[in-house]
Amino acid sequence: MLTAQSFAAGRWITPDATAIDIIGPVTGQPVARAGSAALDFGAMLDYAKTRGGPALREMTFHQRAKMIKALAAYLDSRKEELYAINPLTGATRRDGWVDIDGGIGTMFVFASKGRREMPDGHVYIDGGIEHLGRTGSFLGQHIAVPLQGVAVQINAFNFPVWGMLEKLAPALLAGVPSIVKPATQTCYLTHACVQMMIESGLLPEGALQLVIGRTGDLLDRLGPQDIVSFTGSADTALKLRNTPNLTRNATRFLAEQDSLNASILGPDTDPDSPEFDLFIKEAVAEITTKAGQKCTATRRLIVPDAMMGAVADALSAHLSAITIGKPDADGVRMGALASHAQKADVLERLTQLRAEARLIHGDPDTLSLTDADPAQAFLPPMLLACDDPDAARAVHEVEAFGPLSTLMPYRDTGHAAHLANRGGGSLVSSLFTHDTDVARDITLNAAAWMGRIYIMGRDSAAEATGHGSPLPHMIHGGPGRAGGGEELGGIRGVMHFMQRTAVQGSPDMLTAITGQWIKGATQTTGPMHPFQRTFREIEIGETIHTDARTVTLDDIEHFASFTGDTFYAHMNEEAARANPFFPGRVAHGYLLLSFAAGLFVQPDPGPVLANTGLNALSFQKPVSPGDSIQVALTCKRKTGRTETYGEVAWNATLTNQDDEQVAEYELLTMVAYDR
Ligand code: NAP
Repeated sequence: MLTAQSFAAGRWITPDATAIDIIGPVTGQPVARAGSAALDFGAMLDYAKTRGGPALREMTFHQRAKMIKALAAYLDSRKEELYAINPLTGATRRDGWVDIDGGIGTMFVFASKGRREMPDGHVYIDGGIEHLGRTGSFLGQHIAVPLQGVAVQINAFNFPVWGMLEKLAPALLAGVPSIVKPATQTCYLTHACVQMMIESGLLPEGALQLVIGRTGDLLDRLGPQDIVSFTGSADTALKLRNTPNLTRNATRFLAEQDSLNASILGPDTDPDSPEFDLFIKEAVAEITTKAGQKCTATRRLIVPDAMMGAVADALSAHLSAITIGKPDADGVRMGALASHAQKADVLERLTQLRAEARLIHGDPDTLSLTDADPAQAFLPPMLLACDDPDAARAVHEVEAFGPLSTLMPYRDTGHAAHLANRGGGSLVSSLFTHDTDVARDITLNAAAWMGRIYIMGRDSAAEATGHGSPLPHMIHGGPGRAGGGEELGGIRGVMHFMQRTAVQGSPDMLTAITGQWIKGATQTTGPMHPFQRTFREIEIGETIHTDARTVTLDDIEHFASFTGDTFYAHMNEEAARANPFFPGRVAHGYLLLSFAAGLFVQPDPGPVLANTGLNALSFQKPVSPGDSIQVALTCKRKTGRTETYGEVAWNATLTNQDDEQVAEYELLTMVAYDR
């Protein structure tokens, strides 16, 4: 039998007499012993805040991203140990893939986004500079820094691994230590994963602690720098959110709770269209994956009135082919629910739904199983049909967290969106259509009620990721009933663990704080041309001012014939003059860029490896034949990219003979760390 124990203030706490046996849903026998002696939550918070927090904040975003990547790789190398435990929760290997590989994959994505989208520093820059004065000596910049508290992560039973890792990765990337509290029913799998992470030795001391069992007075001890990130039922969220101490301290409380997600079959479909098949396939997957115990699972299938019969028949046929039984037995597609209590809860809610809807497929009383006992926590996939969804209430409000969904008809797209919105706020709704007008109409009517809208049709089916899969790149959460929270969504998900602060001051002050040169800040001159300096040597603010070059009419004509760009503003004096932007024929913007490169480049082989791009180019003033241009090139930002080179971003400003700015852009180069 497995043991699940807390990891508090750097040590594993041995279960004592208060520990409980967790009964397995497949055998009805104990599978794990879980619990611990009463925990000292004050000491745990102190440990996180005095050890984990400072150690994490000492690291840069890139160092933390590398740590997350190493942690993900470590878990990946030991994931079969997690898969070996997974069937005890009632889940098949396929279900486990969403949880285990899904969780590890989420860590990899955050690691990669941290390296690509965050600086190799301690301050995240949020948005552009705000000009608060006339001359540019007083500016504003939004920044984000890690909260100095602890992230308390309370998770639901259905994703013991993913549920933890999808919160842990952004918290670690932000630089905030975590105390994880998994749902008791499946905590032994979370425990195994935490044990691996601790054994990896990759995490700083105090960055991760685990609570098995109750949270005691933990929430009463949290303060303004802490955050509670909760996933579970609406009822528990309501109770925890209303903890007076959390309100008093304005402690952040993020909730991902239950949701009556919908899937709409477009009015443009018929049983022969590819979208019909896609809809049926997805609906079957949503009902059966994890035995329907997914927060994103489709609970309501909203189909055109005339299609009710065809959809019901197709779904019944597919659901009849699902093999249910022992999760690790050959050929079994659907395992057990996570517990006997969960089965009882689903049956109770099924009764509520049946007051408004007919059960048209699946009978919980007659169950044919592979290698398993029907008295245990098994249920068949079930389909209900509600003929009057406008009059119904329960089908839009009662979440039966198991393998069932309710079919209902709609009249037109407005009605379909209205029914989807009656979920009171959902994590996700999907729409199966090949008609762009239908997609636009339903999206505009329903988006305010949805965290995510998944539009599926023949053009994207081959690469589709699934209605029910929250992706680390896209936000996961939803308004109203879904909890009003938001997680994931790339760097947006990291921001929940950081404080956004508006900083106002001079360009030099903001440059010092952000580590990024800001226009108007001091420009310095290096000992040699910056293209001869290595990534390590170049300093923020280091600048070269080039010589001037006169732009002639011959240059413009040569460039026009050479490139084929004979646009009239460069070639036809009369037409150019008639244009409100130009005084007459003017130089091509791209000619100016080319001349600029010719002015600032140092041609010899050196540490600069490549020019990889250009951002935010603007042409601000036309350059006429006879004008001259010169360039100021300033090192703006440095970002490590690989083991051997990093990206240097340069501010390039082009000015004319009257010192007026004619163009500006950010130039990106890859520069070797060493000579
Ligand atoms: P739950 O009963 O609300 O429990 C969620 C978590 O809260 C568990 O870790 C539970 O621990 C803990 N908890 C309960 N009472 C607590 C208290 N007084 N103090 C501190 N912690 C407490 O939900 P569940 O049954 O585990 O999960 C199913 C529900 O979660 C469904 O409604 C589903 O829709 C929702 N869900 C939502 C998402 C999402 O992302 N939106 C994802 C997954 C699941 P114990 O187990 O020890 O009681």
